[in-house]
Amino acid sequence: MCIFCDIINGKAKSYKIYENKSTLAFLDIYPISYGHILVIPKKHYENIYSMDNEILTEVIKTVKTVTELLKEKLGINDVNIINSNGRIANQTVFHYHMHVIPRRENDNLDFIDEWWVNKYIKINDTNFNEIMNKLKN
Ligand SMILES: [Zn+2]
Repeated sequence: MCIFCDIINGKAKSYKIYENKSTLAFLDIYPISYGHILVIPKKHYENIYSMDNEILTEVIKTVKTVTELLKEKLGINDVNIINSNGRIANQTVFHYHMHVIPRRENDNLDFIDEWWVNKYIKINDTNFNEIMNKLKN
């Protein structure tokens, strides 16, 4: 029913990198770069909205451990950490997960860079105030 739960309970194969009581890190089988890793909570949470705060803390700590392993073992000093929540945001497995994507010089992962560099929405100061006033408590 959930492929990541199947990985956790051993029903599905995975390439485990790191594991502790509440989290698991394993290789993404559809990697976009060499060493692309997923970090998940062992308990099923659909996305950020249903995620338990303490477990979320454990997940990000495991992400950090994974970045250290990538640095130590693969010499990676640059990573993107990406988390998608919901269908419109391109979440495809509905068990919370964070992508740790190693970056290398000239790796042609332009779509990630483009997102930051070339796709700013055009917005004026009035919009900023409007958004701030809607969001803040
Ligand atoms: Zn699951």
